Amino acid sequence: MLGVIFLTSTVIASAAERPNIVFIFTDDHALEAISAYGTRFNKISPTPNIDRIAKEGMLFERSYCGNSICGPSRASILTGKHSHMNGFMDNNFSRFDGNQTTFPKILQKSGYETAVIGKWHLISNPTGFDYWEVLPDQGSYYNPDFIQMDGSKKRFEGYVTDLVVDKSLDWLKNRKDKSKPFVLMTQQKAPHRNWVPAERHMNLFDGIDIPEPESLFDDYKNRVDAVAKQKMSIAKDFHWSHDMLLPGRATDPRFVDNLNNNEYSRMNDTQKKAFDDAYGDENAAFLESLKNDMSDEELTRWKYQRYIKNYLRCIRGVDENIGRLLEYLDKSGLAKNTIVIYASDQGFYLGEHGWYDKRWMFEESLSMPFIIRWPGVVKPGVRTKTMIQNIDYAPTFLEVAGAPIPNDIQGKSLLPILKNEGEAPTDWRSAIYYEYSGEYTHSVAAHDGVRNDRYKLMHFPDTKKWMLFDLEKDPQEMKNIMAEKEYETVLKDMRGLYDSLRKQYQVTTSTFPDQRWDQKWWKDRWDEKNKDANTPEAKKARVVFLGDSITQAWENTGKPAWDKHFAPLGALNWGYSGDRTEHLIWRLQNGDIQRVNPEVAVILIGTNNTGHEQRPAAETVSGIRRTLDDLAWKWPSTKIILMSVFPRGATKEDPLRKLNSEINEQLKTLTDGKRVYLLDINNQFLDADGKLSKDVFPDLLHLSPAAYNTWAAAVSEKINELGVK
Ligand code: CA
Repeated sequence: MLGVIFLTSTVIASAAERPNIVFIFTDDHALEAISAYGTRFNKISPTPNIDRIAKEGMLFERSYCGNSICGPSRASILTGKHSHMNGFMDNNFSRFDGNQTTFPKILQKSGYETAVIGKWHLISNPTGFDYWEVLPDQGSYYNPDFIQMDGSKKRFEGYVTDLVVDKSLDWLKNRKDKSKPFVLMTQQKAPHRNWVPAERHMNLFDGIDIPEPESLFDDYKNRVDAVAKQKMSIAKDFHWSHDMLLPGRATDPRFVDNLNNNEYSRMNDTQKKAFDDAYGDENAAFLESLKNDMSDEELTRWKYQRYIKNYLRCIRGVDENIGRLLEYLDKSGLAKNTIVIYASDQGFYLGEHGWYDKRWMFEESLSMPFIIRWPGVVKPGVRTKTMIQNIDYAPTFLEVAGAPIPNDIQGKSLLPILKNEGEAPTDWRSAIYYEYSGEYTHSVAAHDGVRNDRYKLMHFPDTKKWMLFDLEKDPQEMKNIMAEKEYETVLKDMRGLYDSLRKQYQVTTSTFPDQRWDQKWWKDRWDEKNKDANTPEAKKARVVFLGDSITQAWENTGKPAWDKHFAPLGALNWGYSGDRTEHLIWRLQNGDIQRVNPEVAVILIGTNNTGHEQRPAAETVSGIRRTLDDLAWKWPSTKIILMSVFPRGATKEDPLRKLNSEINEQLKTLTDGKRVYLLDINNQFLDADGKLSKDVFPDLLHLSPAAYNTWAAAVSEKINELGVK
């Protein structure tokens, strides 16, 4: 059974067979640098082969990611779900759970042959592919290693963009079972940082001045402070060797200087010579002009030129190789029944706002190119403004293949739009949701938000600040109009939209990582605990406690009990007064927790989700579930003792007590008896009527010394039971 959709669709049925899919995917390709989309570089740096896909197919002008970084975008594409649902929130600490349902797995079951070649960047090895050969992590431009299906790494001589397409063509030519339809994901590293072009492109644009964006010298006024606080500016944050490809060490303090251009050290002698020939004279001339007191402005302009030329050179490599792929599809006859897609994991700043990199919900990095050619189904040359997102790809591929679409997929199939010249069905979405949960890299504050066809609302949980933009009047997003009287109604509508989309996509504050750096003691404790985690003593810790003030107070009220029971196990106290689940999640994601590998972790969290905001129990439980999921990757062999949230308030009727009881009821679903064990000692704190006495919990929330003894004894017993001595 191929599914009802396949059998009843006249359009697809006329294509005789189920179509193949060639998904060409690059890394960090901004719309502006594709001539079918942009304007600034079109004369100097056209992309004729990508443009050909647009001419023969459909171009989506409003195509967005859900989270503007490499790994998360890929995870959303594979699963059809937003980051908080597929668990791959960031590039720093996430690891893709390859056990979850992905579109390649379903296509495989429906009779498709599946392959991914090139950049993968999801840490765990690919699952659901008949063939895969992927770059480790970010991969290298020169003579790159590829991870083979047996787990070994093999180095290949050459330039990565060429090699990925060589390997893709080899796979297409040598497929085992040519009667099967296939999906091939050709995924390029280019044009990702550090923008090292192929030898043949190193001299492109020599002697040419590339146009600058209007906002190259953005002053970051009229927007929230976070916009100025990033570390991704062309003026200040480029590394001398890594980003600017300059020799030796920095001779000017206006460069960062602790990342080397490792591509050069990977090159063979011929490649090195080509590099030296191309960059040597230009570098020498630059070093000379630096001696003559280059102004800040002149230097920023020079950095921009160096950056943008290398970026566009990398794109030349991408475009040429797309030409090779298209040519093969033509010659082999595959083209007529093959969907070809060109997309990139997110957009990029090409000097706009003075930036490189991505992460922000601003248009340049929120936008993804999405161009699709499908002979006989998609009308050639159509440009559509229908709003799509990367969570839509998976359901589209499934519907195209006549495969079932799982209910929990959050995206929507694009098939009706593809068949109807870009027109959206009447029930299509009117807005998209975006979330970026923050990373150390580039110091961009966590934020989420919504965009409809005219307005964009962004929220920064760290500072509780908001930004509203009118994209029609202010397409460059230079002015936050949150506080303007004339936008009062718009703001109200956008807030409503924000709430409803968060609800629709099951986003809750309890699962969205958040820190409390606005409070000095919290930041200090964080710094200190992180430093501790790197000590030899911490490596020996057999138990770690994670939680809020009730855990933190092992350091004072509970100290005698701690010293007796847990100090001998080298136990660590990672309790932070006032923390809610989102803060613990942030700490697990951003701390050096993998330096420590305890046998047991004791988690008690959630009572502040209840106490501060009386959040629904289910939300708090989602937050607790996320901490358990995170720990499954970071401490896979650690046993988790999950404490039922302690009682609070004097009686069973206390509304906060009731909420905690509801949480505890739901926590039972999170235990598996193999890794996660629920420990409920609440009855030991209560009398027969469920009353909590001030002798036990003096403020009806925090524990007395005697109550710490009770807790310590119960945890000790459980630890023994788990075989830790
Ligand atoms: Ca990327």
